[in-house]
Amino acid sequence: MPHREPLNFDVNATYGVERDLLLAACEKSSSVLNPSSVHAGGQKGRALLETSRELILTLIDAPPGARGIFTSGATESNNSAIGSPFLTYINTSRPAQIIISAIEHPSVEEPAERLCRQGVFLTRVFPRAGGKFAPSDFAEAVLPHCKLVSVMLANNETGQILPVKEICEAIRSRSGDALLHCDAVQALGKIPLSMKELGADMLSISAHKVGGLPGCGMLVLKDEHRFSPFMLGGSQESRQRAGTESVLGAVIFAESLARRIEELPENHAGRMTALLQEILLRDVPSLKVNFENLECLPNTLNLQLPGVRADDLVAALDIRGILVSSGSACASGKPLGSKVLERMGLSKSEARQSIRVSLGAQYDEESVKEGAEIIVSVMNEMLQHSSTFEPLEEAVGV
Ligand code: PMP
Repeated sequence: MPHREPLNFDVNATYGVERDLLLAACEKSSSVLNPSSVHAGGQKGRALLETSRELILTLIDAPPGARGIFTSGATESNNSAIGSPFLTYINTSRPAQIIISAIEHPSVEEPAERLCRQGVFLTRVFPRAGGKFAPSDFAEAVLPHCKLVSVMLANNETGQILPVKEICEAIRSRSGDALLHCDAVQALGKIPLSMKELGADMLSISAHKVGGLPGCGMLVLKDEHRFSPFMLGGSQESRQRAGTESVLGAVIFAESLARRIEELPENHAGRMTALLQEILLRDVPSLKVNFENLECLPNTLNLQLPGVRADDLVAALDIRGILVSSGSACASGKPLGSKVLERMGLSKSEARQSIRVSLGAQYDEESVKEGAEIIVSVMNEMLQHSSTFEPLEEAVGV
């Protein structure tokens, strides 16, 4: 086992909380009690919660009058955003449509599929050949009873940036009614983000992707009157989301986001990612960069090593103290190929040989070079033994 801390080259999964921010936030919120309580302990919590909310809204350049509601994370934000517009349609015979891109996170796709089972018409928009999404394809999918269009700003597996602003404009030219939701979880803190400019009605973000704590997120509503609360049982968050808020979570969310945004102009994560890519491509000649022709987040690489299973590579790198991920999900211990990678045009076999590497701004050039050398040596060792693996196509099964 390595003596140093593992290198987190998997920030798209979780960035990790920085010690100084954590300690400062704990200190700030040490005597905080329930922010809905009228006593001093509660009011101290309320003040911190509101300051954090305002800071987050400013940092994402939310439109004037927008309301940010704290949630338990982006999974809840997405479920609420997808479910809310349809609450009055379920169990009626009134027609309703939802449109999503074909590469949404499961926290968008699965609620949309459930709506579909309940009678809502679900349309998925696929990328064109080459992987790009055309805004006109979204506009053409709009039916008169379209209630919601949900498109992510950046994909978590590939890092692909989708033309959300143009999609919003195209949809608006077709429908005055449809609400536009954007899952901006992966774009937040990695590229400049202005909710005002995007034109979305609802935006989901998550704390732990920017250095905050897991279990804290926000759903930002441009016009809260067009939203029906999904979580019931309390008057918190202006009655838009029941449940006691995590003041500590909110404070760390706001401060870590401020730090990520402050770092953006320097593009350290992007430069370190480019350095890593350069070393890997130089020293592992058979390595391929997937989606190189697409506009992607500067910190995300999707890499394919022909002949080597991604899950094996991830495990081998983990042992050597390099944390990356494969796009594959594990359902009851059975590895599945990534649906997103296949929908982006990769074969099952290619998808199962692809890993995601995603960097933050926390490592200097020396650490990244050290990490790159380890990845090169693990990849080359695995390539030498790749002939002993089962053929990948056969291993996939049904
Ligand atoms: N959307 C995207 C694009 C994500 O990457 C994630 C996290 N993997 C989520 C939503 C869910 O976020 P959370 O972990 O805060 O529930």
